[in-house]
Amino acid sequence: MRLTLLSFLFAATAQAAPPPAPPADTLLSQTLEQVSPTRLQARIERLAAFGTRHTTSSQSHPTRGIGAAWRWIEAELRACAAGTPLQVETRRHTEPPGRRIAAPTEIVNVLATLPGRAGSQRVLLMLGHYDSRNGDVMDAEGEAPGANDDASGTVAVMEAACLAAQAAKTRPLDATIVFAAVAGEEQGLLGAAQLAREFDAGAGVEGVITNDIVGSPRGALGEHAPHSLRLFADGLDPLLRLLLRGANAETHPRLKAQQELAAAGGAEDLPTAQFGRHLQRAVEAYVPGFQVNLIQRRDRTLRGGDHLPFLERGLAAVRFSEPFENYAHQHQNIRVENGQRFGDLPEFVDPAYVARVTQANLAGLLSLAWAPGPPAEVRVDARELSNDTRLQWAPVAGASGYRVLWRRSEAAQWQQALDLGPQAREALLKGVSRDDWVFAVQALGTRGQAGLAAYAPPKGN
Ligand SMILES: [Zn+2]
Repeated sequence: MRLTLLSFLFAATAQAAPPPAPPADTLLSQTLEQVSPTRLQARIERLAAFGTRHTTSSQSHPTRGIGAAWRWIEAELRACAAGTPLQVETRRHTEPPGRRIAAPTEIVNVLATLPGRAGSQRVLLMLGHYDSRNGDVMDAEGEAPGANDDASGTVAVMEAACLAAQAAKTRPLDATIVFAAVAGEEQGLLGAAQLAREFDAGAGVEGVITNDIVGSPRGALGEHAPHSLRLFADGLDPLLRLLLRGANAETHPRLKAQQELAAAGGAEDLPTAQFGRHLQRAVEAYVPGFQVNLIQRRDRTLRGGDHLPFLERGLAAVRFSEPFENYAHQHQNIRVENGQRFGDLPEFVDPAYVARVTQANLAGLLSLAWAPGPPAEVRVDARELSNDTRLQWAPVAGASGYRVLWRRSEAAQWQQALDLGPQAREALLKGVSRDDWVFAVQALGTRGQAGLAAYAPPKGN
């Protein structure tokens, strides 16, 4: 025992290497193979066939409007939940009149939850919004097929929920995954804001992905990037906005911790950034040829999505979006002008692309849900001046090892790694200066799968 304890203290840089790829995982790969473009396309066409899914459209009409749409989504999810651990529910609240809502409106979020290990507080969320709009954001009657924005994200959520439910039957999850089809996005992120309020109470939200406009790899000018997906991941921008608005630690419980991390050299290492890095690596490993373009911004310029209410609560939240948006095919009335076709129609969506996006979500979420959570109390011990770096962390229950990561301050991804055993609580990196590198620690699971990285701020006396 004494030897084991001593040996990790003298971990030499000779053992360090670029971070290994996530381990091969047959169950995960088999799950991804089952993602069906045919089913995705059929569901996109079905959602478009409700005519409009405007948030203030009919809740009671049997075939047209948002009520018919969410009842269908709920029924589909219930059908694939049968015989699996997936739990389907609707959560409703009434939104008071506001900027984009004339009268009190019921918002219905449809949730499908795959519970994690008993006692685990860890939660991951995958979102898509099923409401739609046309050229007039207040038009509750006119056609608004919303095939790309955001039936594409909604069907990705449905497909992922159904397939993850089967996978979880074979291998139970450590973290809970919540698959959510939400409403009210176009009227001010109303459904997602409610969900953020509901999940804010628990401390365990580890990552939120919204899938919004993930339907096509084609741009209006003929651009075509079928193997590329944008990932907007930045926790710093929302933090700075909160501070500029005068938020403080009393009114915002997570603000202080985030501020401290950012001020301790971790501006690019807040939990949202770590979640983004994980997703990029998981997709690289499990969805071969599909590339996640990691963008260190909270969203597209001056635009928003359903991850923002989570970010504003200091939770890690990111957005997947297609590589080129075609503005003729979103938020438009269906029409032809000068020979150009406008409208968000199913024929402009590429189901094979939506399938890859669905695989990207499943790869990122399942790999994380099957891994341990991030270690707490991670730090660089900076009590003494040294050109070596000593890191320390608190143990993670059930971890079968730890991985220390480091990278140059300007690098987007981790560049070096050192794996240590389950007893390790500390690592000494000889000749690796804490002045020149950024550090983090991950916990490893029994199959070598890594959980989220936790940034190591320097701690002096
Ligand atoms: Zn949208």
